[in-house]
Amino acid sequence: METKLLTTCAKDIAIAAGLIRQGGIVAMPTETVYGLAADALNGEAVKKIFAAKGRPADNPLIVHIANLSQIGELTDDFPEKARLLAEAFWPGPLTMILPRSSRVPPIVSAGLPTVAIRFPSHPAAQRLIRESCPLAAPSANLSGSPSPTTFRHVREDMMGRADAIIDGGDCAVGVESTVITLLSDPPRLLRPGGITAEQLRDVIGPVTVDEAVCRPLREGEAPASPGMKYKHYAPCAQVILLQGGEDDFVAYVNAHAGDGVGALCDSEETARLQVPCMALGPAEDLEKQAHELFAALRGADERGWKTVYAHCPPQTGVGLAVYNRMVRAAGFCVIPLGKEEVV
Ligand code: AMP
Ligand code: MG
Repeated sequence: METKLLTTCAKDIAIAAGLIRQGGIVAMPTETVYGLAADALNGEAVKKIFAAKGRPADNPLIVHIANLSQIGELTDDFPEKARLLAEAFWPGPLTMILPRSSRVPPIVSAGLPTVAIRFPSHPAAQRLIRESCPLAAPSANLSGSPSPTTFRHVREDMMGRADAIIDGGDCAVGVESTVITLLSDPPRLLRPGGITAEQLRDVIGPVTVDEAVCRPLREGEAPASPGMKYKHYAPCAQVILLQGGEDDFVAYVNAHAGDGVGALCDSEETARLQVPCMALGPAEDLEKQAHELFAALRGADERGWKTVYAHCPPQTGVGLAVYNRMVRAAGFCVIPLGKEEVV
């Protein structure tokens, strides 16, 4: 398939909108990660997203809107708490799970009776939606690999697979949106992201965090969010997460130095490590670490690393989003330091 490379100028967005209206698929920048978009109300177009990504058919997509008036097409029930969250965090990196209206083809939600809705803040994404329609869009990576946060990475994965790719430069947030379901009481966080659990609670009161955010699913357990069950974000290299303070992390990594060993670390640790390393950002700056994470996971493979030791972030604030992606990249292999080793 020929893939048009477009910019965010008005003329190119109009071309992309035309492709969407004809049932095509377009990779677009958003503030979280690049998304692979199709007309959310066109089941045949949405089918192409699953094929291009190699995405399992039971993993639902998020529908992106650019005007609150579009909500009515997607769900018949927008409760008070959803209204409060929309007022506080939209446009922005928050996805809400609500009952799916019969106008949304079942394939969008992988057959679930619910639909995921988000209003992105990226101006190019908004313009594309305004000139076409609500867009179903998962992350624009090949299924299983880290989500693309740069134009180079989305091109690597989607060249020849999408009708067009819009170059929006680097994504600001760098991890996918926070996903919350409003179908449970209290509402439940299914995936941590740029909007933290603490921020959500400030607006709507109690919010629980689904247990599967931080641990693997048990044998036969049905996930609240189907995306939870897939091995995500993983580079080819084996990622091992080390949980402990800076001194313990540096000592452990240096003791395991060798061919093909690298580290994902805090900026403060780079000078002390005796293996090649990539700093995600200062230990205290979890926003920066979230921004760098996916490019660093791809960078590990580009550097030919076979084993990657990563320093476990705190599981609070945006740190929970970084931890959630890292622990999946590591296939839940976490070694606590300063104690007896348990894998
Ligand atoms: P992606 O955009 O690639 O990050 O994928 C969308 C994520 O949202 C996946 O983890 C899905 O499992 C989740 N998601 C989308 N729709 C629903 C839904 N109706 N119910 C629960 N989770 C959903
Ligand atoms: Mg994804």
